Amino acid sequence: MPTSLSQPADLTCPQCGHRFAAEVWLIVDAAERPDLLEKAQQGTLHEVACPNCGPIGQLDAPLLLFRPDATPPLLFSPAQETSAEQDREHARQLVSRLRQALGPAWRDEWLAQGLPGVPRPLLPLALKEGLEAAQRKMQEQAAGGLPIPPEFRDDLQKAKEAEGRYLRHSDRAALDQAAAAWARILDHPAFPAAPGGWRTWKRPSPPISRR
Ligand SMILES: [Zn+2]
Repeated sequence: MPTSLSQPADLTCPQCGHRFAAEVWLIVDAAERPDLLEKAQQGTLHEVACPNCGPIGQLDAPLLLFRPDATPPLLFSPAQETSAEQDREHARQLVSRLRQALGPAWRDEWLAQGLPGVPRPLLPLALKEGLEAAQRKMQEQAAGGLPIPPEFRDDLQKAKEAEGRYLRHSDRAALDQAAAAWARILDHPAFPAAPGGWRTWKRPSPPISRR
């Protein structure tokens, strides 16, 4: 089965009321679909166009990128109007789906350092210049923006500790804790909001149904 995963969505154009179907990409395998990787790099993967009115905005959806030849091979970019708990659930579901799709090609060591998360506005930078460039930008923005409250530092500490436990003991619960802590950090208002000009649509239901 294909590794990349999309979900159909029935949308109503906020401008003309036209109803149309769209495809929301949730997992992109860069080797399988370089066209979708290109769109993610340009920040247009979740852009939606009404057949009558043209481009009308971006859908708010999580995205798991699988780049078999890159380091790191997995990148998660959470949806923007979601809680940390929802982000964690999305990450868990998408990783689980990818693992199934890849079968024996899946490697547990891809998650040995945790699942790297990238806020959506920084995803194009992370894909073009690397995760470190995006992380530097996050640090700059956090340092130059709001003062960092204590719970933020706690989460960083928790994420590091949990990742250490996962590395030492292959402890799944520790990996989940690390993902949750990172998700809270990424959810923090110190991180940038959606780029101006785009409407972010709230989806009424979680992107993937629970198993
Ligand atoms: Zn329209």
